[in-house]
Amino acid sequence: MLFSHEDVRPTQGKLVAAVADSLKKKKHILIHAPTGLGKTAGVLCPALELAMERDLTVFFLTSRHTQHKIVLETVQKLNKKHNLNVVCASLIGKKWLCAQDNTQTMASADFAEFCKSLVEGDECEFYRNARGKNNLIGKRLVESLHKEGPLAAEQVMIRATNERVCPYEASLMLAETAKVIVADYYYIFHPNIRDSLFGKLKKKLEQCIIIVDEGHNLPGRLRELLTTKLSNRVMRLAIQEAKKFDVDVIASLVEIQDVLNKLSVGVQRDKLVRKEDFLVPLEKFKSYEELIAELDLAGEMIRSEQKRSHIGAIVKFLQDWRSGRDGFARIIKREGELVTLTNSCLEPALLTKEVFDSCYSAIIMSGTLNPTSMYADILGIPNALQCSFESPFPEVNKLSLIIPKTTTKYAMRNERMYENIGLHCADIANRIPGGVMIFFPSYNVRDSVEKYFSDEYEKTAFFETPGMDKAAKQRLLDKFTKEAKESGAALLGVAAGSFGEGIDLPGVLKGVIVAGLPLDKPDLETSELIAYYDKLFGKGWEYAYTIPAMTKSIQNAGRCIRSEKDRGAIIFLDVRYAWPRYRSCFPSEWNLIVTESYQDELGPFFGRLF
Ligand code: SF4
Repeated sequence: MLFSHEDVRPTQGKLVAAVADSLKKKKHILIHAPTGLGKTAGVLCPALELAMERDLTVFFLTSRHTQHKIVLETVQKLNKKHNLNVVCASLIGKKWLCAQDNTQTMASADFAEFCKSLVEGDECEFYRNARGKNNLIGKRLVESLHKEGPLAAEQVMIRATNERVCPYEASLMLAETAKVIVADYYYIFHPNIRDSLFGKLKKKLEQCIIIVDEGHNLPGRLRELLTTKLSNRVMRLAIQEAKKFDVDVIASLVEIQDVLNKLSVGVQRDKLVRKEDFLVPLEKFKSYEELIAELDLAGEMIRSEQKRSHIGAIVKFLQDWRSGRDGFARIIKREGELVTLTNSCLEPALLTKEVFDSCYSAIIMSGTLNPTSMYADILGIPNALQCSFESPFPEVNKLSLIIPKTTTKYAMRNERMYENIGLHCADIANRIPGGVMIFFPSYNVRDSVEKYFSDEYEKTAFFETPGMDKAAKQRLLDKFTKEAKESGAALLGVAAGSFGEGIDLPGVLKGVIVAGLPLDKPDLETSELIAYYDKLFGKGWEYAYTIPAMTKSIQNAGRCIRSEKDRGAIIFLDVRYAWPRYRSCFPSEWNLIVTESYQDELGPFFGRLF
């Protein structure tokens, strides 16, 4: 058997067998496999074995860049152990691989136009050296990269930039001969990106095994991909832009702004609108086609002068709005001065169908893909095989408490409740030796609780801020880690923020407190999603509301125990975790204790183990 490691762990063996079986049957499979099972090797190795046998390509899709490294290392080990030369390419977004200056801060649509215009105008030296008349430079580089074995995208970027070759094109050239390609979901699920990629790689979806890692994120990411928005803020910026560049579209932009303003009259929070409510008034002004064409032209002209265009961004919204597809909710929303018209996608299967209908086989896995039947429904693969594994870590290493004393339920939010939550968080965190992460449903709740927490917490507290970039995130984690190791520390963040998933701090975290239940805002978008899933599957509340919130909570809690040697406490601080509707979502093997006297549990647990 082709396997990257010396030994196959017992449960990992079952995982390998389940994957091999699904591949043999050419079926899709959904796998719930908690951290510690060795998922990457357990899934990748059997997929690669079949790919080598049948001349297929394995796409390993992940929403996290850090996961690329694990895949590359697995292939490296496999090559070494079996004396193979399996080529593995790592693809990250073109914008992040671009060798031109200052492209990383550009909006994606602007960057796409920027790159296109440089390439078409033969103005990018890096492209010329990769695909143009000087392509020998690119070919030589790729030959040498081949010999060096699997390389991370960053390494390819450095090497290619030094040789004045476009790093993105160099990565694609490597991927042409690769048996394993690690990439973001979008490379496969975005139809245009996929078509362009497969055209360049000369590959066919039918000849690909698709592995989706962290599959619990797939539905949300795909809905996001198809959702488009138009706000009064963007309209204002677009009008300023038109004036600055003196393009003759101001009247059209003002008309769109007027229609948007009229739609928002009387809207306190949000309201459903129909396609015609936006289209018909615009059609009276000018043909919709003509409007799109003139704005598109203006956007292109502006992008040729500067890297981004707000006018160009409006075109995408206008194009999507006129499509009459089912599975969307059209909503106008007001938040203070900000008015946003959203064409919100409710149906991830709009993007998965073609992929899953065509690919050789798909493996969708996650440590929180529970229940797998829900993902089979909403991803549109009702006949997929399904399997679930228990956590391989000893339950004795983990103290799991539900403390039913407080809640972040909207109707119960008040100063007294925030004080209670803050004091409990501080008291619990004071009792945990080492690092503690505390997750709140939103920044708003976190900030309301903060002063009560800080008054009582005896060690150093760190705070996540919204929209942190990669470097800021790492700096905060480094400071927190140092302090946690020296004298204990707490990091206060939000459930769906930068640290809720994908963070491994071996030996640092001794506790996680999930303060409150991170349910989505009870707004129109959420209720439309509930109604939609109710209509399709009869399970709107579970699929659109309860399970996504519990998945976030369990992901947050999972930061604490990352290996069989880790020991720690995970605390769910909200009365609702004890309710059957939510409690039934916890993994069945968890030994959960519901108690108000958490002191009686924490003391002996840490006293015994530390
Ligand atoms: S061709 Fe490559 S280097 Fe040139 S602009 Fe596009 S991504 Fe950047």
